[in-house]
Amino acid sequence: GKRPRLLVVANRLPVSAKRTGENSWSLEMSPGGKFNLLGGVTAQFDTKWVGWPGFDVYNEVEKNALSKSLAEMKCIPVFLNEVFDQYYNGYSNGILWPILHHMGLPQEDDHDDTNKTFQTKYDAYKKANRMFLDVVIENYEEGDIVWCQDYHLMFLPQYLKEYNKKIKVGWFLHSPFPSSDVYKTLPSRSELLRSVLTADLLGFHTYDFARNFVSTCTRILGVEGTHEGVVDQGRVTRVAVLPMGIDPDRFIKACKLPEVIQHMNELKDRFSGKKVILGVDRLDMIKGIPQKYLGFEKFLEENPNWRDKVVLVQIAVPTRNGVSEYGKVKNQVHGLVGRINGRFGSVSSVPIHHLDRSVHSNYLCALYAIADVMLVTSLRDGLNLVSHEFVACQEAKRGVLILSEFAGAGQSLGAGALLVNPWNVTEVSSAIKEALNMPAEEREKRHRVNFQYVKTHSAKKWGLDFLSELNDAFAESEMQI
Ligand code: UDP
Repeated sequence: GKRPRLLVVANRLPVSAKRTGENSWSLEMSPGGKFNLLGGVTAQFDTKWVGWPGFDVYNEVEKNALSKSLAEMKCIPVFLNEVFDQYYNGYSNGILWPILHHMGLPQEDDHDDTNKTFQTKYDAYKKANRMFLDVVIENYEEGDIVWCQDYHLMFLPQYLKEYNKKIKVGWFLHSPFPSSDVYKTLPSRSELLRSVLTADLLGFHTYDFARNFVSTCTRILGVEGTHEGVVDQGRVTRVAVLPMGIDPDRFIKACKLPEVIQHMNELKDRFSGKKVILGVDRLDMIKGIPQKYLGFEKFLEENPNWRDKVVLVQIAVPTRNGVSEYGKVKNQVHGLVGRINGRFGSVSSVPIHHLDRSVHSNYLCALYAIADVMLVTSLRDGLNLVSHEFVACQEAKRGVLILSEFAGAGQSLGAGALLVNPWNVTEVSSAIKEALNMPAEEREKRHRVNFQYVKTHSAKKWGLDFLSELNDAFAESEMQI
């Protein structure tokens, strides 16, 4: 029969356009994009993506031409133009991101300004959500499933249901959801909750995030929380815990490519006689890179015999350039690298190789595969795909994953990983020591458990599970009416 239609709506399209000149552009996969992982469901669902294409276009001829080339890749662009900055940098990343990651609301120096800029950002956020709605409506056919992704689109469920309550609407939050004490400080707290509650199914990576969400709804809106979700005047909004995954086969296969093997050999030569600890993070304050360096510094301080036998390679992918808080973390991190390399380096070697850049995916796979230890110290993290990717690339080596208990993945890869509280410098330092000294047998056992998990909990399974729950939830709510 015919495959059911699915519209995946996300801030960013999986393919993004880059301007190469007037009236010309190139199309490439969005950097670090995760929504392309939903491609796994296309055998069962006729899938189209709706999202911002990566740059703005103001004239109709160019708009049509770009839309046409994106359509060949099943992508439908939403041109946000002048609304983009305040919606994306302003409200989504400037206000929602810190709240969702337990970092509180930013304050301007002048209180009046704070209120004014908040209102401007909030209005842009709502306007952008309406612009997404308009594009969805243009492309909607009866029976379509509309799956809204992430905190950028919290008003979209309500707008969709107001337009037509027969639309099957799901929403998945890729970031954490904070405790109600933190969320409560957000001026627009109730409107946002009421909007997402109009969806048929809401998904979170972990039980903790889902529980925070439900109890926040009960405290702020006075609605009822049950084991199924949230109940408001008899209407149920289902809440599901569905941790995302990766496409494990892509990484397993990549590790066998000649190009990747060549990178691996070069890296092994480069670091011969040394153990390699790997970090791969966007340079974001939630990733706890300073905490990682402090833990490593303490380890070197207390274990002089390891000083010339271990390196920490940190890929620090640039992110949100131009936001002042991000500039501050960068300076802090560079200061620490200088101090630690100055204290523990020698004429011929340095302990920390810190790179402010991204690397190509084949090179990244080689790094994952040759590393002895992967060190993830997020202070707060929705899932952390990097930890899954490391596990997928470690079939030959059986390295050790040190994982923050505050990353969503801590609740799924905790069995095989060494879990740490990144705020506890001593604990991070001890975990590094334990990982480097771990006997092969125990490494094998821990790797098995995590590899099995990563292999069976793929992004494809995640997508299909969400969509099947969404269909059930929708069918049930139809019967209630
Ligand atoms: N990544 C990348 N280029 C790099 C380093 C990492 O594309 O140089 C990818 C990585 O493979 C992973 C994603 O970026 O899929 C990061 O996802 P994660 O969930 O770990 O963290 P996020 O950046 O979404 O907070």
